[in-house]
Amino acid sequence: MTEFGPDSTPDFPAAAFSRRLVRWYRRQKRALPWRETSDPYAILVSEVMLQQTTVATVLGYYARFLSRFPTVRDLAEAPEDELLAVWSGLGYYRRARNLQAAARVIMAQHAGRVPQTLEALMALPGIGRYTAGAIMSFAFNKPSPIVETNSARVLARLFCVRAPVKSPATVRQLWHIAEQILPPNNPREHNYALMELGSLACRPSQPDCVLCPVSEFCAAFKAGEQRLIPPADAPAARTRLRFVGVVPLNDGHVLVARIPQGEWHAGMFEFPKVPVPLTVSDVEARETAQQLLQSLGLRGNLVAFREFRYTVTRHSITLCAWMAMCRRPARPPGKALRWVPLDEAGKLPLGSAQRRVLAWVSNDQRPGGT
Ligand code: SF4
Repeated sequence: MTEFGPDSTPDFPAAAFSRRLVRWYRRQKRALPWRETSDPYAILVSEVMLQQTTVATVLGYYARFLSRFPTVRDLAEAPEDELLAVWSGLGYYRRARNLQAAARVIMAQHAGRVPQTLEALMALPGIGRYTAGAIMSFAFNKPSPIVETNSARVLARLFCVRAPVKSPATVRQLWHIAEQILPPNNPREHNYALMELGSLACRPSQPDCVLCPVSEFCAAFKAGEQRLIPPADAPAARTRLRFVGVVPLNDGHVLVARIPQGEWHAGMFEFPKVPVPLTVSDVEARETAQQLLQSLGLRGNLVAFREFRYTVTRHSITLCAWMAMCRRPARPPGKALRWVPLDEAGKLPLGSAQRRVLAWVSNDQRPGGT
């Protein structure tokens, strides 16, 4: 039998390792809808959704997205507002735009079929080496390695790679190992199994080595270093930001603003807001809300206040939101502004924090609401 170990560990019994790993995977794998299909488009959608988002969250979006955009053509031709509304709440909205741009390239250059080479996949907008490798192996069962958070941890432990897994040299080393141990005959299940082992057993802080199906192959386990590998990353620095926002209301309508290009969530909608210093007092925040109303050409009374806290990438944000009962001008006060019926505002593309603000206002405006 051919063994295909990495150069640095020529004795690694890769074929036996993969067989053991895949046998465990077949017994333990979670039933996830993107694993039940080999439709490359559905797998492309799932992989883009799973970038920076947990499996549990993606499960709530995946089927709805595919029922609204069942083919590459449907996605390529979708209006952006509709795309962003369906993506609303998943965050990292650039992924949705890239996914649509990729669909358009697939329509224009690949006759509507997801390409089957690593090079062509990596030429699509938003598709990096991991996502391209995932599509190659999961959709086409082609021997293409993958390294993502879970499999990187597993590989680092299996081969006792003690350096931080995000350092460029370690990343290169892990990709090399992943390629060397990949069985040519069953890359799909092997890659899924590596990721699943990282999710279910080889967890970041509590690896379950006693029940691990491949512990006999694991150098970190043999050295008693499984909890030390990989070394923890330094915590990312967070920036705190504060905004004052208004939610203008009139006769069952609410005023929203389209977010301009160059800002987070560009193209989506939000309630008007402005940045303020972190040290702003409650009185100053209220005055800022009044000035914001005036700058929108509105007259109104501030009737309720609530603070919302949320994060966007590495920013911790506090939004001091004021509900304002306004007189409605004949026309919206600016091109980017739009009055919409309150009970239809949820159909707009709104980020998750803006949806929380909308839920607060909707609840308040219901008969008997708080
Ligand atoms: Fe991970 Fe432990 Fe299995 Fe090694 S033995 S792969 S550290 S769970």
